[in-house]
Amino acid sequence: MSYADKTLTCRDCSQAFVFTSGEQEFHASKGFQNEPSRCPDCRSARKASRGESGGYSSGGYGSGGYDRQERQMFSATCSECGNEARVPFQPRGDKPVYCSDCFSKQRSSSSSYR
Ligand SMILES: [Zn+2]
Ligand SMILES: [Zn+2]
Repeated sequence: MSYADKTLTCRDCSQAFVFTSGEQEFHASKGFQNEPSRCPDCRSARKASRGESGGYSSGGYGSGGYDRQERQMFSATCSECGNEARVPFQPRGDKPVYCSDCFSKQRSSSSSYR
């Protein structure tokens, strides 16, 4: 059985969204027959607003929700500049730790070097 990505239209916000082959496979494995009628944003918005009377038809409140969760940050010393680096994992000492400045410098230097 092979699946191909499909573009569907959300019935809530009328935006096109992709129903990927992976999702189709997952769907089929769960025994679902119907294609999703809403985009992932609207689906999670509906989930989040479950319990309320529903009826959010006008889009307009922000999507996402990732910035809500706060991760514990550990303090370490940046191996590049020596400033304080805050990292979301416990520094172990066998790997260099970078502050956010040096980290983004490292990442950008690989693609665009100036
Ligand atoms: Zn939608
Ligand atoms: Zn640094």
